Amino acid sequence: MPEERGVAVVTGGSRGIGAATAPLLAERGWSVCIGYQNAIDAANAVVGECESRGARAAAVRADVGAWEGVAALFAAADRLGEVTALVNNAGIVYQAHTRVDEITPERIERMLAVNVTGAFLCAREAVRRMSTLHDGSGGVIVNVSSRAAALGGAGEYVDYAASKGAIDTMTVGLAREVGGEGIRVNAVRPGLIETDIHASGGEPARVARLAPGIPMKRGGLAGEVADAIVWLCSDEASYVTGALLDVGGGR
Ligand code: NAP
Repeated sequence: MPEERGVAVVTGGSRGIGAATAPLLAERGWSVCIGYQNAIDAANAVVGECESRGARAAAVRADVGAWEGVAALFAAADRLGEVTALVNNAGIVYQAHTRVDEITPERIERMLAVNVTGAFLCAREAVRRMSTLHDGSGGVIVNVSSRAAALGGAGEYVDYAASKGAIDTMTVGLAREVGGEGIRVNAVRPGLIETDIHASGGEPARVARLAPGIPMKRGGLAGEVADAIVWLCSDEASYVTGALLDVGGGR
């Protein structure tokens, strides 16, 4: 049996990258608390996968775009044990590609609420539990950013790209802020990964369309991003903090 690692909170753990990450953390000895928005059956299936690896697990319907959702998620995590890891993964794109001159205030507001404010509030709750300053025993935070932060998302979703730019800055700043308090903070920046998010953005075949322009000539798999996240959570990355790890096949 792996060493008991405490509780890992994975936001957006019901589908895609989060769903691939949760069972790997379970395998490495973490109890896992996943948050999701709507997909209850998918969330329960991920809990089952974690439990089949010998871990305790729970799923919580928790919209990270609202404080109440974040509070409910961490209350459930506390019931499982001591929180020692956070994977800030929940993120959205909007249903249609849009230029900035056509963007609506509602879209920007919701994008930033979920992708930025949600990640900040989850990080805040994690630091309050992990920091040695608050009598915690340390931990690790992995933020799921995007290569879009560097590429800018022109003609599709500059708002989304900018939200991930904020996540990159938060990663570097928070890593420096809590580096002496037992907490490592890093980000992965996935490129084009085969998940449902592209259908949510109105183009299910987006990865196939853009694959020829990727240096490795293919989209990535959720599991390939999950492997990087779990490495950053692990002791094998014990001296890595403030890093932005690109997982983009060269894109
Ligand atoms: P996905 O397949 O669409 O899954 C999104 C997950 O987030 C689902 O579990 C969803 O819950 C949850 N979620 C969405 N809005 C939420 C909210 N307001 N509160 C709580 N949970 C919420 O997406 P993915 O591709 O795995 O993306 C995961 C992360 O990777 C995101 O931050 C995304 O920006 C980033 N990323 C993805 C790619 C890519 O190409 N796929 C590339 C770069 C970065 P439900 O299942 O309940 O809807």
